[in-house]
Amino acid sequence: MTRGYNFSAGPAALPEEVLIQARDEMLEWGRARASVMEISHRGRDFMDLAAESERDLRELMSIPSGYQVLFLQGGATQHFAQIPMNLARIDQVADYIVTGAWGEKAVREAKPYVQPRIAASSLDSHYTRIPPRADWDLDPRAAYVHYTPNETIHGVEFQSVPEVAGIPLIADMSSDILSRPLEVSRFGLIYAGAQKNIGASGLVILIVRDDLLERCTGNIAGIFNYAEHAANHSLFNTPNTYGWYLASLVFKWLKRQGGVVAMGERNRVKAERLYSAIDSSGFYANPVSADARSWMNVPFFLPRAELDRLFLEEADAADLLGLKGHKLLGGMRASIYNATSLAAVDVLIDFMGDFARRRG
Ligand SMILES: *Cc1c(COP(=O)(O)O)cnc(C)c1O
Repeated sequence: MTRGYNFSAGPAALPEEVLIQARDEMLEWGRARASVMEISHRGRDFMDLAAESERDLRELMSIPSGYQVLFLQGGATQHFAQIPMNLARIDQVADYIVTGAWGEKAVREAKPYVQPRIAASSLDSHYTRIPPRADWDLDPRAAYVHYTPNETIHGVEFQSVPEVAGIPLIADMSSDILSRPLEVSRFGLIYAGAQKNIGASGLVILIVRDDLLERCTGNIAGIFNYAEHAANHSLFNTPNTYGWYLASLVFKWLKRQGGVVAMGERNRVKAERLYSAIDSSGFYANPVSADARSWMNVPFFLPRAELDRLFLEEADAADLLGLKGHKLLGGMRASIYNATSLAAVDVLIDFMGDFARRRG
């Protein structure tokens, strides 16, 4: 058996060093004389891990004081609903900028808890661009503005943080958190499922500005209440301890790599190489406008859909995994998160060139 080159969109590749460390520590973790999975989340060893992982994430993302960092559950999808539950009233409006399938889903899930307004959308271009900021129709009374900096399915990514006139800005960073430097102080709330760029599914990182927690006052059960989770340092109930542990290892790995500055540089080179191979192939195509192309998820299409099955079979035989596009779009998608090396991208590019020569 061979570990393949993994381009899965999520759950996605983890750094091999992290998997090896997790394997080595599986039976006995630190001083615990047990697996990290087998000990109390309220004991000193796990509490130390929790505190240190928060410190590491704060350092990696330069999170200013005045923000709480929470390690929660439920996937990003649960927080599509939980965010309006906590930060808005049912009779309030909240603005959504929709640039792909995840933004659409965020709107759908918010509906029972707020009046979502689509303040801008690029549906008319089949989500191949970002609507120009000048065309956004923001409501100054909106409880918040929500957007998806990186649309994982459509491969569309904002290249800068939008200006939203003082309305709290909320970002679903599930597929681009920690992929490059970010000015956290521009945001009211950032959230991300861990299974793309951090670790295992079942863990959500949520970074929220203190003043927004004062809004969590409605009739919200404790388990859904962000202020409650913050007051309990994410130990309101049993957290996903193993997922949290894996995230802590990934944070250490990121620090050894040189943090988000080094990752951003590496991710830019990976993406540039792959897009340039696609554009110059005369065979593959990516429809996203150049200024909105994602550094993390690269959808691409073969000239004839009949070739898709053959491409995937040959890719699999060459140990290139997870390339099948999302069912909404068809075609292919290469996800090239932090844990995917430049070497893996080069192997993919060589394979794609070879396939195009033989089938073009
Ligand atoms: C994967 C993904 C989600 C959904 O995550 P779940 O953990 O399945 O809820 C939401 N938003 C974005 C941008 C994603 O990439």
